Amino acid sequence: MSPHQAWLDEVRPNPYVDQLLGGFTWLRFHGALEREYREAQFAQTEGLLRITLVVGTILWLLFAVLDHLLISSYERWWMTGVRLIVLAVLLRCGWLLWKGQSRQQLEWMSLATIAALGIGAAVVVAIAHRSDHNFPYEGLLLISMAGYFLAGLRLRQALVVSLLGVLSYGLGEYWVNYPLPRLINNLLFLLSGSVVGAVGCYLLEYKSRENFLNTRLMELLADRDGLTSLHNRRSFNRQMVALWGQGQRDGVPLSLLIADVDHFKAYNDAYGHHAGDHALQAVARLVEERARRPLDMAVRLGGEEFAVLLYGSDQAVALQLAEGLREELERLGIEHRGSTSSTVLTLSVGVATLQPAEGLPLTQLYEQADRALYLAKANGRNQIAY
Ligand code: GH3
Ligand code: MG
Ligand code: MG
Repeated sequence: MSPHQAWLDEVRPNPYVDQLLGGFTWLRFHGALEREYREAQFAQTEGLLRITLVVGTILWLLFAVLDHLLISSYERWWMTGVRLIVLAVLLRCGWLLWKGQSRQQLEWMSLATIAALGIGAAVVVAIAHRSDHNFPYEGLLLISMAGYFLAGLRLRQALVVSLLGVLSYGLGEYWVNYPLPRLINNLLFLLSGSVVGAVGCYLLEYKSRENFLNTRLMELLADRDGLTSLHNRRSFNRQMVALWGQGQRDGVPLSLLIADVDHFKAYNDAYGHHAGDHALQAVARLVEERARRPLDMAVRLGGEEFAVLLYGSDQAVALQLAEGLREELERLGIEHRGSTSSTVLTLSVGVATLQPAEGLPLTQLYEQADRALYLAKANGRNQIAY
């Protein structure tokens, strides 16, 4: 097993790691992760679609001029007609994009843009070939490439619209009785180009998915404590600032529990550091159960000190949760022969509740809970205080 894989195994269970190790050869993630990936691609899609629309429209207009230089028969007016219809689709997409769209709508617009360009170009070429067999058809390959690399499409989508363009081309040429050997030659050229595009697009999407998983994993790990998987102090500080602001706006109180394991140095001395780690993990599970609602947070502040940040809980609820935490650890009955205040592992909890307000410093909540913890320790440990 490579060191990287051993490291990944250590942070399991974790959806990002499971997906990284499980692989995604078919460019699809499991369950909710797929939706998360697509949402993350959203911003990128919008920028890419903007570029595709601008570049596509400019080239489309330039090629319209070329039509008139290369074709002198009345067919060129039919070609201009088709170009105008596609131009209308491009402008419509541009207008919708300007107004701001959801992810699904953007995806449809990217598909519509490439499909309209591909089908439109195929029809234009077929009309031109009625009077001039040498009219260039290679522009279709450019559109295919835009589908694979420019429009922010995933491989499956790009493949579908690209093949749609090639199919339209084949049907168009068949309709105007284009010589079969030349048609086969051109189709083979377009399909070969599509294969090159598809392989490149596959590799890009694979890397993009891998980057997504790695980035999400790093973000997650940077906010978590390695031993207990609870949030770490950095994550806690960020959440405190966010909830303090939100509490002020919503007129909702914040509560903070700070729990410190009693005589933990003596526990390490009596049972060893390894057993100490296991005990901390057991405490962490109990702490975690206190933070059940979406905005609440269970934290390992450091060492044998934990915290629970509660949004919208008043003092009575906070005290009840603190007492529940204390009781449950005592009930676990983890023997502690080094303790002078109990025969089992216990903790002390300081509780504070504040209504965030203008001019009230955010540090007040922490300081108040810390003072209460000091009181619980001074009063004999294995108790809560506020
Ligand atoms: P008090 O009741 O006053 O809180 O006493 P205490 O012994 O718990 O407090 P003190 O701060 O003196 O000691 C904390 C101990 O926690 C010291 C340190 O060895 C231990 N500790 C901190 N982090 C870890 C850890 O990650 N694993 C283990 N096993 N021990 C840790
Ligand atoms: Mg302690
Ligand atoms: Mg301590």
